[in-house]
Amino acid sequence: LATDGESAPAPNRNQDRSTERDVPGTAPTEFFNEPDTDPSLPANQKWAKEIIAEATAPGYLDDRPKTPKVDSAAKLDEMIANGREAAKAWRELGAAGRGEILHRAAEVFSVRRGEFIAVEAAEVGKMPSQSDPEISEAIDFIRYYALNAAELENLEGANFVPDEMVVITPPWNFPVAIPTGGTVAALAVGSAVIHKPSKPTPHCSALIIDCLWEAGVPKDVLQLCTPSDRDLSRHLVAHPDVDRVILTGASETAALFKSFRPDLHVNAETSGKNALVITPAADRDLAVADLVHSAFGHAGQKCSAASLGIMVGSTHDSQRYRKQLIDAAASMVVDWPANMSATMGPLTEDPSDKLERALTSLEPGESWLLQPKQLDDTGRLWSPGIKEGVKPGSFFHLTEVFGPVLGIMHARDLDEAIEFQNAPAFGLTGGIHSLDPEEVRTWLENVQVGNAYVNRGITGAIVRRQSFGGWKQSSVGLGSKAGGPNYLMLFGHYTDDPSTL
Ligand code: GLU
Repeated sequence: LATDGESAPAPNRNQDRSTERDVPGTAPTEFFNEPDTDPSLPANQKWAKEIIAEATAPGYLDDRPKTPKVDSAAKLDEMIANGREAAKAWRELGAAGRGEILHRAAEVFSVRRGEFIAVEAAEVGKMPSQSDPEISEAIDFIRYYALNAAELENLEGANFVPDEMVVITPPWNFPVAIPTGGTVAALAVGSAVIHKPSKPTPHCSALIIDCLWEAGVPKDVLQLCTPSDRDLSRHLVAHPDVDRVILTGASETAALFKSFRPDLHVNAETSGKNALVITPAADRDLAVADLVHSAFGHAGQKCSAASLGIMVGSTHDSQRYRKQLIDAAASMVVDWPANMSATMGPLTEDPSDKLERALTSLEPGESWLLQPKQLDDTGRLWSPGIKEGVKPGSFFHLTEVFGPVLGIMHARDLDEAIEFQNAPAFGLTGGIHSLDPEEVRTWLENVQVGNAYVNRGITGAIVRRQSFGGWKQSSVGLGSKAGGPNYLMLFGHYTDDPSTL
């Protein structure tokens, strides 16, 4: 928490969100994590309910500002040139000058939290229990990177040359926190940004940009556009005056971007096939709750989601485990439009072939512990599914499905569990539940994931506390993790020649 008397105070978690707040003028000098909304306060429940009612009423998005479409290569060229030109003055402000604006942006996000919840609900069907922490994370990224940029500038002898033009291409599953992070990291070091929304979430992107503009980021330094076809998207990404593209999406997309221009810097966070290992030495209550939460939060549409639970030795044979797991998943409230107590909402898109296969069929040796059910005729609202008997090397063991299905595997011992966990090509998140320090040590030494969690769920990385990034095929061109101390160094390069500064 901020301790400096000059700093803005950290907001109170128990704050009634329905009361109006002004943007305070002072910037924090130390980082603190923004608190989520307290869902137990009746005033906050009412607040969220009204937001969702408004957001899910027909036509809500029609009245909101849109992302401009760009339908010519000449216009994109002009945007890139304008951005590079504007970056000069932006750099001149120094980290402190940019930081002042960015800290104001953090406050604007905080004041407009309800609007973010509404737009996420309307655009991707994200429920407040999931979008609220995402907005806190976005605010954390802004404050953290603004403070980090000042530190980077003060590093003695560090001749850091920021990129001039960065293109941000966000995902739709975290359409606020992830693109805010990339955008603000680039802005903090002094780069100009063109933000190209993901197809399903142009309004989330427009709202992010509006908040940053409101705080004072110049409009040429931060531009927003949707190229109107694939050729124009390619024109933007492959443009010789674009230094870097930040992508969260499929590894195929990262490879495609690289194929446009081999010298382009592409930093991509891609897919995951993540497992939580549970040993006989685990705290069962915690382990089950964390597994269910990690598997079914946002209907499993997280790269970080637990898609596999790997039960070690006798854990698997325990009827109590099975029953507890089934009860925990079956008691989830699946509903849309959601109230504050609903725990699972709809899929954002129609199920892919892979997800359809995982939801509706079993591979040899598998059986349903809890069979998923389609709950309405949209094809997008599903109850959670758990299959056990997932075999090593099978479709479900190795394939990311991105939806509300959890597979249970049985491992003879911890070594075999780690083998199963490391087998997929990806290496994003992973966890172990065990109260045996020896087991935890062995696991930490051998697991191949970017984010290794011990006795905790495997989603919901917290800025500064758990910087986020993948290993193996979960990451392309990323040496440093989002929300961690080295992330900003991605956005530029070091030089021995101070005259280039
Ligand atoms: N950062 C998110 C988390 O820790 C996951 C991001 C993603 O799924 O793309 O859960």
